[in-house]
Amino acid sequence: MSRAEPCDLFIVGGGINGCGIARDAAGRGFSVILAEMNDLASGTSSWSTKLIHGGLRYLEYYEFRLVREALMEREVLWRNAPHIIWPMRFVLPHAEGLRPAWLLRLGLFLYDHIGGRKLLPATRTLDMRSDPAGRPLKPLFSRAFEYSDCWVNDARLVVLNARDAAERGARVMTRTKVIGARREGGVWRISIEDGGTGRIREVSARLLVNAAGPWVDRVLSETVGQNDVRNVRLVQGSHIVVRRKFDDPRAYFFQNRDGRIIFAIPYEEDFTLIGTTDQDYVGDPAKASISEQEVDYLCAAASEYFAVPVRREDIAWTYSGVRPLYDDGASKAQEATRDYVLTSDAPAGQAPLLNVFGGKITTYRRLAEAMLTRIEAHLGRRSRPWTDGAPLPGGDFPVDGFDALVAATQSAYPFLEPAHARRLVRLYGTRARRLLEGVTGPADLGVHFGADLYEAEVRYLMKEEWAVTSADVLWRRTKRGLKLTSDQAAALDAYMHEAGSRAGTEAA
Ligand SMILES: Cc1cc2nc3c(=O)[nH]c(=O)nc-3n(C[C@H](O)[C@H](O)[C@H](O)COP(=O)(O)OP(=O)(O)OC[C@H]3O[C@@H](n4cnc5c(N)ncnc54)[C@H](O)[C@@H]3O)c2cc1C
Repeated sequence: MSRAEPCDLFIVGGGINGCGIARDAAGRGFSVILAEMNDLASGTSSWSTKLIHGGLRYLEYYEFRLVREALMEREVLWRNAPHIIWPMRFVLPHAEGLRPAWLLRLGLFLYDHIGGRKLLPATRTLDMRSDPAGRPLKPLFSRAFEYSDCWVNDARLVVLNARDAAERGARVMTRTKVIGARREGGVWRISIEDGGTGRIREVSARLLVNAAGPWVDRVLSETVGQNDVRNVRLVQGSHIVVRRKFDDPRAYFFQNRDGRIIFAIPYEEDFTLIGTTDQDYVGDPAKASISEQEVDYLCAAASEYFAVPVRREDIAWTYSGVRPLYDDGASKAQEATRDYVLTSDAPAGQAPLLNVFGGKITTYRRLAEAMLTRIEAHLGRRSRPWTDGAPLPGGDFPVDGFDALVAATQSAYPFLEPAHARRLVRLYGTRARRLLEGVTGPADLGVHFGADLYEAEVRYLMKEEWAVTSADVLWRRTKRGLKLTSDQAAALDAYMHEAGSRAGTEAA
């Protein structure tokens, strides 16, 4: 795009909100550029608990609007991405001395009825003395409630939105930092720095969208040059990943004595994901890491419930992220609103700036629609929302068609191990076929990097999904990082570096 020709909108941030807005806008025919300073989903969007959920707990804070919108999104998102989103049942044991059973039942009644649930099964009561869900727990719980929400592969949800945006014409630039933005002649002049070469360029846009997540205030103060910026409250949340604590496919929702809750969720076949914490955070969001105190808290909270305690030695991996919550002045971190707030700054005759504060993975699509209403008002256009019935890349199969797709992939590529075929369909859906194009036997999968990760997949991720480093592949596009050794990861990095510079030379 030349300097004389500004794009319609420029988006800062390749997290779920930036990528969701880019997709929606590109699909409505706007010209879109998105810049992400690191990898897609390298911010908060890959550090979540990975739930598409209404947020049962938010009912206690009377967040009915948010809970209702989020509940309604569960089936919409599941239908549009049944490879990376699927239903999960949650077991909430009733613990003496904590929230009374009638309150839990009331909350779950609302949860079942205010969110347009059609496909997800309703709440039921469990006798924990006979139900298999009681087996891994201490024999203290005689009753539990089982309810529905959905699981999401958060990092892939981001990448698939970016992929779809790009296929609809958006330009997605990763490793590109927005370092300055100024209004001039009715447009934005935006300076961007290429993280690889250090080269700085300027692009113009009619409208600027600040979707920088926990960096949103920093973009306003350091990049746009505003004074006295204080819109978000940064709240750290950490998770531990331990060796599998139970075989049941259901997840647990545990109440803690301090009024907070944690989840214990089946994760990547061999693991259990336990989290999260909630504490105010100061500093660079990219540097958040779990503290000793948080490890102790999560181990102790889970051990109140599991018959075999969760110990530090069981921990295989940890991760921490920072929630960019809209600062509504709540006294405790867990009470700050989880709802999103959009603001517009559009002085007469000057190019508009639109900001995203807060939000959840679950509500990203609705947030994008709300943002598009504002964008269209500023750019003088009106079009119809379209994303509610549009599958994400690889998600064009029925919600009950996952096993059939695995079987079809397995029969087309009989040399794949069943678990490998299943994993590929989980990550890529119908696009697993594209990844395997031209593969007629095990040798065509190419270099073996460890576990079931081969060159064919890495090449696909580099070509189609902006993967540049081993961390992009091992910790965001896939979670093979849990299975590969550090030497194997280093070999993958060397391969990607070499393949990346070869592609660069070929393209030059
Ligand atoms: C512990 C935890 C658990 C959570 N669990 C859930 C859950 O289960 N379900 C749910 O729905 N939500 C959950 N959330 C909330 C959800 O993860 C976030 O609301 C969401 O990911 C925020 O997305 P975002 O796009 O706004 O921010 P981000 O994902 O952080 O994206 C912002 C991006 O902007 C980029 N950026 C910043 N500055 C610049 C710049 N100058 N130039 C270019 N790029 C820039 C960053 O690199 C970053 O990638 C959880 C959050 C946390 C922390």
